[in-house]
Amino acid sequence: MRSNHRSATRLNFSSATATANNMFNWQIAQRDYLNEMLRADKFPHALLFSGPDGTGKTAFATEYAEKILCQSDQDEACGHCHSCEVLAADTHPDYLNVAPAEEGKQIGVDLIRELIVKLNKTSQFSGKTVAIIENAEQLNRNAANALLKTLEEPTPNTILILVCSYPHRLLPTIRSRCLQLNFATPDKQLALSYLHQQAVKEPELYLQLAHGSPLKAAMMAEDELSEQRKVVLKNLIKTSRGQPISMSMKDIDKIPLKAVLDWCIDFCDDLIRVKLQGAQAQLTHIDVREALSNMAQICDIKGLYQFRDVLIERKKQSNIALNTQLLLEDLLILWKQAF
Ligand SMILES: [Zn+2]
Repeated sequence: MRSNHRSATRLNFSSATATANNMFNWQIAQRDYLNEMLRADKFPHALLFSGPDGTGKTAFATEYAEKILCQSDQDEACGHCHSCEVLAADTHPDYLNVAPAEEGKQIGVDLIRELIVKLNKTSQFSGKTVAIIENAEQLNRNAANALLKTLEEPTPNTILILVCSYPHRLLPTIRSRCLQLNFATPDKQLALSYLHQQAVKEPELYLQLAHGSPLKAAMMAEDELSEQRKVVLKNLIKTSRGQPISMSMKDIDKIPLKAVLDWCIDFCDDLIRVKLQGAQAQLTHIDVREALSNMAQICDIKGLYQFRDVLIERKKQSNIALNTQLLLEDLLILWKQAF
């Protein structure tokens, strides 16, 4: 089992920084399924790993690429053959990795063309070349079309692994040419055991806030995002009461833009649940139940649905450069209309 996880933001075009035998223990079924196809020599030329953020699918893709390239015949990469050593040194010529230059940014056609040129070269080691495209939903139209041609006429001995959290944003023609493998959130006990191993404080709370995604929960805990979430909630409460907001730049600067939108959507969902189901409602933000229950008494359900729709729209535009302060001010004005 893996003891650390890689950052979500990767290099523009990089080689691997992998370590062997590091799959998460909730990914064994996917590993065994792929191993079976590999042994039967029926491995597809293109795979699509999909599932929520924070379940470890990119890490799995990297690990499995290492397994494909490994010169041993074990269930996972051996870590000490020549291929594994070269991968660990970041210099494997048959391993390619494409990712957006920054989180939320698109993957352009130039990067995909560069990838295709490299895929067309003969592999230098095991006979196979493996390419991973992270955040594949960020491929722009031209990049997606260029990739489609490669998927339709694959180069022999090349394996493409697309990783994405929002597969519906991919071209249907790209989806249909890949074998899709789902990476759902793991069983709660497995996730909690991972968080205990990572020495996460309040693992139950963070797992709940991360909707069951263990890596996301660990990242939120590491960044102490729970406290910043309370700053956002405090200001939503103040606005609902017609009181002036109070946020220092120090507070705001630390808060990731995407997290603000995710929390506000979850606050809305919790408020709607309280309004519909009363005190027994199952909430995401379990530690602020009382504050949410009080707020639910004064907000209007129609206004909540409207605010939620706006948040979803903003989330779709979250690759547009905005700063957290502007976004929050904008949201608080809209939020006021829910009362
Ligand atoms: Zn090896």
